[in-house]
Amino acid sequence: MKKVPFITLEKAREIRESIPTPFHIYDEAGIRANARALKQAFSWNPGFKEYFAVKATPNPYILKILHEEGCGCDCATYTELLLAEAVGITGHEIVFSSNVTPEQDMRKALEMGVYINLDDASYVDFLASLGPVPETVCLRYNPGGTFSLGNTIMDVPRYAKFGMSEEQMMGAVTRLMQLGTKHFGIHAFLASNTSTNEYYPTLAGQLFRLAVRLRNATGAHIAFVDLSGGVGVDYRPEQPRCDIRVIGEGVRAQYEEVLTPNGMGDVAIFTELGRFMLAPYGHLISTVIHEKHIYRDYIGLDACAANLMRPAMYGAYHHITVLGKENAPLDHVYDVTGGLCENNDKFAVERKLPEIQIGDIVAIHDTGAHGFSMGYNYNGKLRSAEVLLKEDGSFQRIRRAETPKDYFATFDFSEFHFGE
Ligand SMILES: *Cc1c(COP(=O)(O)O)cnc(C)c1O
Repeated sequence: MKKVPFITLEKAREIRESIPTPFHIYDEAGIRANARALKQAFSWNPGFKEYFAVKATPNPYILKILHEEGCGCDCATYTELLLAEAVGITGHEIVFSSNVTPEQDMRKALEMGVYINLDDASYVDFLASLGPVPETVCLRYNPGGTFSLGNTIMDVPRYAKFGMSEEQMMGAVTRLMQLGTKHFGIHAFLASNTSTNEYYPTLAGQLFRLAVRLRNATGAHIAFVDLSGGVGVDYRPEQPRCDIRVIGEGVRAQYEEVLTPNGMGDVAIFTELGRFMLAPYGHLISTVIHEKHIYRDYIGLDACAANLMRPAMYGAYHHITVLGKENAPLDHVYDVTGGLCENNDKFAVERKLPEIQIGDIVAIHDTGAHGFSMGYNYNGKLRSAEVLLKEDGSFQRIRRAETPKDYFATFDFSEFHFGE
């Protein structure tokens, strides 16, 4: 589908007067509409809840908007738990899906009374060593082998570090029941950034059948099935877009085929979507500050891979719109780069774009998830501001940009001369 930015050149210029580029901007209206569509797609399941994967966009203003739309949080670390707590999200509005979990993190999760999702059967004793086990515990499943949809191998769970085998799960359930756990959740994340409507229904079918086997073998009450993340977005204009309504109906068909006839019609469906909830509703806004023409033509931005790591790290495609030139012919071919001393610091390679001038403002699309959050400080590059484009068209800075002082804050500079 044609990629249309949610911000105009005029708006970008207006914001740039008070918030210099580069900055990440989020579209409140888009976030809310999408969260409502997800809720609607699963409204057939009374216990349905989306637990937004905090790592995708760890900003309290974003978490608050999603919370207003009925979403909780999926946290993986102590700090993410603190962030959710600061927004007033706690208890069963949080799933704690951690792995290689430090004791401090697990204690915090217990203290907040969240749903704890255990990555391994060995965590049962770890949990029990910290106090009484919770009444409800979730277990993370890894089926091993390969995960396929039709003839396509989506991922290879047997090489993944997450989760436990079915046999280990049986043992963990039995042990937890002895320790006093009454209700169970089961969770699996088997493929990332999927572009088909079949992923969730296929995963749900597997987990529902597992839930029946677990219940039959142990007598355990399965309270919820957590489909985790993995529903993708169309980063490329020519890519198909997932249809959440079709996905919800696909999961429902599996539910009615597997769970309902087995007397398990009370199982709640949880999701932990990150990318699907936020990616399309974020842009990285950046100004063109240099151009050079050697063996290729290069456009240099004031943003770099430290603001958006996905292209450098995964070779990921992010669409680029030159604001104000939305309808100009794509008759130039550029590499669009940042200023890190790394040749992989390229937002686009040999990309067809309109003719670009220094001072142009570009919107890099689909940066709302795993964008700012994967940022770093290499080369002394500072993290950017984050801005919320509100439903009424006004904007709000929801995080200021870092200053050199922030960058140096963890040094003891008393022996040196810091000259800001
Ligand atoms: C990263 C992650 C998610 C979110 O994944 P998306 O691909 O952004 O939907 C959900 N659950 C867990 C446990 C994760 O690690």
